[in-house]
Amino acid sequence: MSADKLSSVSKEVKPESMSLYPLGTAAAPEQELLCIFGTGDLGRSLGQRLLHSGYRVVYGSRRPHSCGPLPQGAQAMSHEAAAQSASLVFLCIHREHYDFLETLAPQLQGKVLVDVSNNLKKNLYPEANAECLQRLIPGAYVVKAFNTLSAWALQNGPSDANRQVYLCGNGAEAKQAVAEVATKLGFAALDRGSLSAAKELEDFPLQLFPEWRMPLYVAVGLTAFIFVYVVIRDVVYAYVEQGEDNSFRIMVSLANKVFPIVSLIMLSLCYLPGVIAGFIQLYRGTKYRRFPDWLDRWMLCRKQLGLVALGFAFLHMVYTLIIPIRYVTGAPYYFKNNRTSVFDTTTAWRSDSYYSMGILGFGLFLLLGITSLPSVSNALSWREFSFIQSKLGYLTVFFCTFHTYLYGWDKFLRTYKWYMPPAYMLSLVLPSVLIVLKLLLLLPCVDRSLTRIRQGWERTDTQDGSEKPLLT
Ligand code: NAP
Repeated sequence: MSADKLSSVSKEVKPESMSLYPLGTAAAPEQELLCIFGTGDLGRSLGQRLLHSGYRVVYGSRRPHSCGPLPQGAQAMSHEAAAQSASLVFLCIHREHYDFLETLAPQLQGKVLVDVSNNLKKNLYPEANAECLQRLIPGAYVVKAFNTLSAWALQNGPSDANRQVYLCGNGAEAKQAVAEVATKLGFAALDRGSLSAAKELEDFPLQLFPEWRMPLYVAVGLTAFIFVYVVIRDVVYAYVEQGEDNSFRIMVSLANKVFPIVSLIMLSLCYLPGVIAGFIQLYRGTKYRRFPDWLDRWMLCRKQLGLVALGFAFLHMVYTLIIPIRYVTGAPYYFKNNRTSVFDTTTAWRSDSYYSMGILGFGLFLLLGITSLPSVSNALSWREFSFIQSKLGYLTVFFCTFHTYLYGWDKFLRTYKWYMPPAYMLSLVLPSVLIVLKLLLLLPCVDRSLTRIRQGWERTDTQDGSEKPLLT
């Protein structure tokens, strides 16, 4: 078939719009007939949606007379007859069963074949399923599409599920025809290029949190390390040196020490790569050289690092609320020992500032998390987004770090147990380094140079080997 027949596919698909035929004056336009091979889960869900969207559907099946219940209005026939009746065929069968299609090559010649298949594992086959299909039927126009949607999502419609249909293929008109069907079903069609992108689309449903892996490993590693650290320092030490059993503190008090520490370290890890990148650009005098791979990977998961940090901050907030205030302030200890505390203005200032910094830091942290949601960030201009994520982000780091310094107050650098400093001091190392480095980058002469580099200025070596001064 020819390009004529193929172009008729796209011409026949009418956009969703008001009917141009006044009632009673003309016959309604004939509904387009589409073919589906396979009456399994996906075939039936897809058929049902196509019927609801105004298409006619015919199934190609091995057992057209006993293939089980089909969506109302659809009919089943042999593969040969079904293939001949429509110019667009959805292949809702597993790749392992593609071989029989070779015998249908004459009937499928020039048709648009939509490959929806996925595999159980990545790299199971050397070539993508869609490329294999194209090899089996070279005369057809193979388009990879709809594989990232589940049968359930298709049945429920786009309002209740993923709205995007990714597609790729070598024929522009064939892709256009499939995109129009997807649009008519209520999905947004996203063209991912030629058929060589099919493998990427087939790997897509098999991904397991690729961007979240590193942040989650970091979170688990840090949590385990800090937890063991505080148990040794607060429970084992008390037991060995003072004969006290403090193990009851593990569930709430020690957990509430671990969460803020992990949160603050991860928040710093979220902003540190940006500062390191700034220093690398200053050192190289150009923004046009690639960053090292480790830094690239680190920068790519900043959003996830920040969201995991926010999760830990949230746990800290909840745990702080459930610890009775008297326990936080140490009152039971004083009651038990029949001690009363004398009101001290300095201590009151310290504790109020400590709470205030914590609340402000958490509030800004929430704002950072909310604005990182795609639906919110899409509604912001680039300037608004970078103001919140960068300027308010550093302010969040500052508030949370100051909150932790106030926690240490006059005990800072004094209370070592078995030469181990208090755990909160460990959490202050990275944010303090981050704040100092950021302040250095904000120095007017450094900031000016970095801004010029980011606008495309490059430091070039002159012939006698001397360099233009970078700091202006
Ligand atoms: P399924 O329920 O197992 O249905 C597959 C259909 O293929 C069967 O109903 C059968 O239809 C046909 N078939 C089975 N063996 C065959 C053979 N030897 N020769 C020819 N046809 C054969 O599978 P499914 O879940 O619908 O998935 C179909 C395709 O869609 C797969 O490639 C899958 O990766 C892909 N997919 C599925 C989903 C999902 O949510 N289920 C999501 C995305 C992509 P007849 O008996 O009528 O011939």
